[in-house]
Amino acid sequence: MAGEPQSDCLFCKIVAGEIPATVVRKTERTLAFRDINPQAPTHVLVIPHAHYPNAAALAEAEPEVAGELLAEAGRVAADEGLSDYRLIFNTGAGAGQTVFHAHVHVLGGRQLHEGLV
Ligand code: AMP
Ligand code: ZN
Repeated sequence: MAGEPQSDCLFCKIVAGEIPATVVRKTERTLAFRDINPQAPTHVLVIPHAHYPNAAALAEAEPEVAGELLAEAGRVAADEGLSDYRLIFNTGAGAGQTVFHAHVHVLGGRQLHEGLV
């Protein structure tokens, strides 16, 4: 069923507590934790507990949770003292997606390049 945990998914295992993560925020439906390979002083991933392969699939199936993901990303930035930050949703291997469980990257704490790529 859509949204059900996948046994071969790294982020489902983090949600289940089977793989440790540095959690910074948690709600009933979302989890925010530090990226293991940070690309900026603040690099946090916000994910839904439910498994969807990417952000658009999440938004199609559970738009309220997709909205909560964005709100939580903003709260992470605020908690980190960031007024300026970047949210990134990689979608598909060709765009750099390596974990196929919806997530948004929250990046900040340094000057971010003006270009998108
Ligand atoms: P993406 O490339 O958009 O799919 O992002 C996946 C992110 O997950 C990468 O930035 C990885 O560094 C990060 N990542 C992979 N394994 C872990 C882990 N065990 N804990 C935290 N972040 C991870
Ligand atoms: Zn998953």
